[in-house]
Parts: sequence; C-alpha cells; structure tokens
Amino acid sequence: MIPFDYIRAESSAAAATEGCRPETQFIAGGTNLLDLMKLQIVTPARLVDVTRLDLGGVEETADGGLRIGALVRNSDLAADPRVRRDYAVLSRALLAGASGQLRNMATTGGNLLQRTRCPYFYDTAQACNKRQPGTGCAAIGGVTRNHAIFGASEHCIATHPSDMAVALRALDAAVEVETPDGARRLIPMAEFHCLPGDTPQIETALAPGDLITAVLLPPPLRGSHIYRKVRDRASYAFALVSVAAVVRIEAGSFAEVALAFGGVAHKPWRDAAVEAALVGRPADRAGFDAAADLLLAEARGQGGNEFKIPLLRRTLVAVLTEAAKGQMQ
Ligand code: SF4
Repeated sequence: MIPFDYIRAESSAAAATEGCRPETQFIAGGTNLLDLMKLQIVTPARLVDVTRLDLGGVEETADGGLRIGALVRNSDLAADPRVRRDYAVLSRALLAGASGQLRNMATTGGNLLQRTRCPYFYDTAQACNKRQPGTGCAAIGGVTRNHAIFGASEHCIATHPSDMAVALRALDAAVEVETPDGARRLIPMAEFHCLPGDTPQIETALAPGDLITAVLLPPPLRGSHIYRKVRDRASYAFALVSVAAVVRIEAGSFAEVALAFGGVAHKPWRDAAVEAALVGRPADRAGFDAAADLLLAEARGQGGNEFKIPLLRRTLVAVLTEAAKGQMQ
C-alpha cells in the first residue's frame, strides 16, 4: 500500500473542509476502499476518517419518513424494526448484499460510494477509462458477463454493484450532503449516481468535500415490497440482475408501482414509462409481458452479457407475479 496521511475528523464541518484538499478521500467502514488501496487502484494522499462523527441513528421525520444517518451499519439498518415493517424492500436488499461480516462494517454512506466490480477496473495492466481516463475500455470486446445493458457508453460499460442503492431508488430516497461551506443539500437518488458518458471516472453528483450525512426516506409506500436478486451463487455475490419492487394492486389492477433494477447499468436503473404503463392495467401475464417489452426495448447486450436481457425479463415477470399473488389471495 502507498503511504498516506490519516486524519480523524472531529466534526462534519471539519471533515468537509479536509475533504476539499486534493487527493483526499473519506473513510468509514473501508470495506471497498481498503481493497482498492491495497491493489493501488486508488492511491489517496490523505484519508479523513469520519467514523467518530455523530452520523449514526435512524430517526422518524416530521413527514412520516425516516432519516438514516450516513454511518448506520448495513446490518443495523436491515434489522431496524421500522425498516423491516415499512421499507421491507430496503431490508431485503441489504440482506442480499455482501456477507454478514461485511454488512457489520459497511455504512449507509459508503455503500452508495462503492466502486464497480468490473474486473478490468481492478487490473492495473488493463486499459480502463474509469481508473485512468483516456486509456480506453478493456471490457469492450472482452469478458462482459457482469456489464451493463442500459445506459452504457463507448467509454465504459460497467455496472454499479450496490443492492441497497437499487432499493433506495425504488423508494425515491434522497441523499443529504454537507458541503464545505457548511450548507446542507439534498440529492435525489435519481440524480446521485451518473451514467458513464465520456467521463466514467465521475460516478456521483458529489463535489469535492461534499460529505454524505444521511439518507432520507419519504413516507412508506403500501403494497408488496420485493427484492429479487439473481446471482452466480446463493450468497456473497453481486447481482447479475436484480429487481426492487413496491407494488400495490387494487381490484385486480395495478394501483401503484415503483420498480428499480440492479446489475444492469452504471446506476440503479428506473424507467418511469414502464411504471406508468402498468398503473391501471390488470395484474395479469399480458400486463407483465408488456411491461418487460417496454423495459427491454432499449436494452443492448455487449456479447457475454446478452443473457441478461431474457434474464431480466423473467425476473421482472416473476416479481410482478409474486406481487399479484400476494395481494389477490
Ligand atoms: Fe473500466 Fe468501465 Fe471499461 Fe470496466 S467497463 S474497463 S470500469 S472503463
């Protein structure tokens, strides 16, 4: 590992100020960053440890939602009774991610910032525009089993690995940030992660020094909360495809639908047209197939990941079928 300076932040304002300095990164659970540093994929000159800051705890908000501190551990968030009862899709997504040991260390803020698991990103002998802008993308024309079918560019076809973020996208969460000038701002999950375009090294809407302080959930959505993740083995594996769904069915028809998809794009993927097409439609196989047709019309395979297109179709149909069965019994 390349030597670095270590600074323990005593306040979020001090952390944000330190975070503005060049070649500086925040560290909390470190479950991804330390691996990246050991492999010299990232080589920060300074680490600002934010783990002593008062950013833990899950609180109810005045509008009936939840405020989740950025340092809440993934395992604690998954086990929170309010999350299990009112935001079950989030609890299930968290429990589908990583391993028990990693969930005990990983934080809410850090989970959002984890880096892609594209194998070429982790191999410094390979061209990678995300690791070293302008060098090319070894994945294009290479092994693409885990890569994107939506929103990719000629510069990067990587996917975002987080399960938690997919559920947060379906729940219309927002990320609360403290800026170096002491202001707080909210970034909707829809805007938090970026598509690669011609700058795949830019992954989020955060500016230098911006410190994630919390994630805000709006009041709960009624209906079936489902997180279905398809992966190469039953645990400790990233999603090939995943679906986070909150679906309410009334009198046999879709009344409210929120769907987000993981393992398929550079960010949690959501398609408003698919949800709009389902609302008001009978919850039957014809409706499920029509939604999948609409969703997948823009999907593009990259060779080895073309199997994801029919796999995502089957997974979406299975999720909608499960929601319909659960609410029409
Ligand atoms: Fe790098 Fe993105 Fe290409 Fe992977 S897909 S090699 S992360 S540029």
